[in-house]
Amino acid sequence: MTQQRRPGFPARMDWHPPGAAVGPGTARAQRGAAPTPPQGLGLDSAAVRARMVQRLAAGGIAAQPVLQALGTVERHCFVDTALVNQAYEDTSLPIGLAQTISKPSVVARMTELLLGAECARGQALGRVLEIGTGCGYQAAVLAHLAREVYTVERLRALHEKAREHLRPLRLANVHLILGDGMLGYPAGAPYAGIIAAAGGDSLPQAWCEQLAVGGRLVAPMAAGDGRQVLLVVDRTIQGFRQSVLESVNFVPLKSGIA
Ligand code: SAH
Repeated sequence: MTQQRRPGFPARMDWHPPGAAVGPGTARAQRGAAPTPPQGLGLDSAAVRARMVQRLAAGGIAAQPVLQALGTVERHCFVDTALVNQAYEDTSLPIGLAQTISKPSVVARMTELLLGAECARGQALGRVLEIGTGCGYQAAVLAHLAREVYTVERLRALHEKAREHLRPLRLANVHLILGDGMLGYPAGAPYAGIIAAAGGDSLPQAWCEQLAVGGRLVAPMAAGDGRQVLLVVDRTIQGFRQSVLESVNFVPLKSGIA
């Protein structure tokens, strides 16, 4: 689609706190120097994503690094050709095998929650675990905000699809794992952040065990009254502190590999 026209992205785009000096050769300087002109459908234009980012900011997303990451990652490269013209609308879209890519406002909201205090301090996150790679979009967003991203998918076909989507981006800090995310991914633990894109009835024990002290987990979870809610769990030296936030609508968390 736009592969040939895509500029050579650096393996990672370091985020600079607002007002920080940005030297030549940095991601921001490069993007500033060579804006991509609108072409074809216009979906490869940074302007389309900038409009999406404006809507997200108007909708309450305040974390600049999150807005910057969503303004960078080309969502249209993660959906099927027939859906590219909807890629920058605030809607979830099918990615095959009855799974969906979350809508941008939900990706932004969960990412902002995940970053929490680190974001306010202008720091990147350390190692992050994502449960449910899907098409790879959320992982690409996280790659701009965390040092390492471990992302687990249980469906082989989606795991492969995500690999295809991410390959041209050359994000050296994203690690794709085919496996049952209910078991977490012990090899990368402990994690500064754990984010789930699929909702279960309870929090898998492994996620709590693999969360670092000072780390945060963001996941959809059954509320017990038929609703699914966003759960934030902070691990402190005193133990786990849990907050229940707004209703959400994620695909079910399932066990095993298929
Ligand atoms: N973050 C994804 C959203 C994918 S939808 C994106 O940006 O596209 C949620 C995904 O979670 C689905 O692909 C589903 O297969 C996966 N999933 C559900 N249960 C899982 C489990 N136990 N381990 C790993 N992946 C799981």
